[in-house]
Amino acid sequence: MAKQKKFILQENQIPTQWYNIQADMLNKPLMPMNPKTMQPATIEELSRIFATECCKQELNITDAWIDIPEEVQEKYRNYRSTPLVRAYGLEEALGTPAHIYFKNESATPLGSHKVNSALPQCYYCKQEGTTNVTTETGAGQWGAALSYAAKVFGLEAAVYQVKITMQQKPYRSAIMRTFGAAVTGSPSMSTRAGKDILTAQPNHPGSLGTAISEAVELATMTPNCKYTLGSVLSHVTLHQTIIGLEAEKQMEMAGEYPDVVIACFGGGSNFGGLAFPFMRHNILEGKTTEFIAAEPASCPKLTRGVFRYDFGDEAGYTPLLPMYTLGHNFKPANIHAGGLRYHGAGTIASQLLKDKMMRGVDIPQLESFDAGMLFARTEGIIPAPESCHAIAAAIREANKCKESGEQKTILFCLSGHGLIDMPSYERYIDGDLQNYNLSDEEIQKNISQLKF
Ligand SMILES: *Cc1c(COP(=O)(O)O)cnc(C)c1O
Repeated sequence: MAKQKKFILQENQIPTQWYNIQADMLNKPLMPMNPKTMQPATIEELSRIFATECCKQELNITDAWIDIPEEVQEKYRNYRSTPLVRAYGLEEALGTPAHIYFKNESATPLGSHKVNSALPQCYYCKQEGTTNVTTETGAGQWGAALSYAAKVFGLEAAVYQVKITMQQKPYRSAIMRTFGAAVTGSPSMSTRAGKDILTAQPNHPGSLGTAISEAVELATMTPNCKYTLGSVLSHVTLHQTIIGLEAEKQMEMAGEYPDVVIACFGGGSNFGGLAFPFMRHNILEGKTTEFIAAEPASCPKLTRGVFRYDFGDEAGYTPLLPMYTLGHNFKPANIHAGGLRYHGAGTIASQLLKDKMMRGVDIPQLESFDAGMLFARTEGIIPAPESCHAIAAAIREANKCKESGEQKTILFCLSGHGLIDMPSYERYIDGDLQNYNLSDEEIQKNISQLKF
């Protein structure tokens, strides 16, 4: 019989609850803090910025399972489950005894995992009487997902897109506008935060940090308007656990259980989304699966950052979050994986890293594209530059198996496809991409400016 490659769930097998790892963690994440009072941020304070239900989820450390609203389940069923695929082609090219699987979140209509959280966030906003949503977007994946989800639930969306990626990925703003969103390059002159940044640095290329500041400012200045975030926060990762919960069932269909789970890491939502449902078996049943977060070598908060209270944005509008951080003023090099150019890690992953429940690896830009090219040529999917980091980490693990002869089962998240990132691939193919070395002094310089 031909080997089965692809595992897909029936609609009635799609999970109806998300998994909240905070309930099962032995050491709970530290609380977000209000920088003015230095007291733990309350749901009331947070809900000035975010939908109230999201704030409750953010601070929920007691309920392991959270029901997915019926209306969100219905939208999920438009594109879920995503396939779990055995990467036979990649295994063969590597000559590894390892079994490599990937969870294909690039198969969503918007091309990445981001829509999994955009839908519930817009749903909760609508339920709570909000009419407008704002957000930032780096590579444009989150902005695209949010623009679509806003349209689906009848909300107006305003998106601040990091200026440098607007130039690198011009089609992404066209996608957002197709879904009816208003798109502005950040830093812009339309907000106080943007003006301040541009006055200090007229050629600022923008970062997720600058765009977040602008979107938060607009949300707080506009009536009936909430801000939405596509990564970092615990409720976003909660929504993304649909990925791992499906993958758990699909691995069972494949008759295997992962020894290693890998995902690329920007703020941690696709990583947590895939990893946490499996990590629960490490916590509760003593399984020994390894969890690896692949970050860019030029933005190494997990391996070279410090665990501190820091702001989530450049201007310091957000609550203080306990995170591994390079400092909120850190300006990552202009690598093409825009979604990974973020200075900090989400609070849950930060605590888990501190407790050695997971580890980070740094992938140089050229290695990430080497991996993406091999994957494209063997599996027929052009991966997003972000996802290339996960593939590179999976290849490292598979090569270790080749050396040791171990037959491990490796599972990674293909967080998105790269079809709108072709200018990046062209530059790689033409030999125009480079690695960036980040010195300890540069890292130290930023970290030494942290006030908390
Ligand atoms: C946004 C994005 C990421 C990084 O965000 P996380 O919250 O760390 O998952 C990774 N891959 C793709 C394709 C993205 O769009």
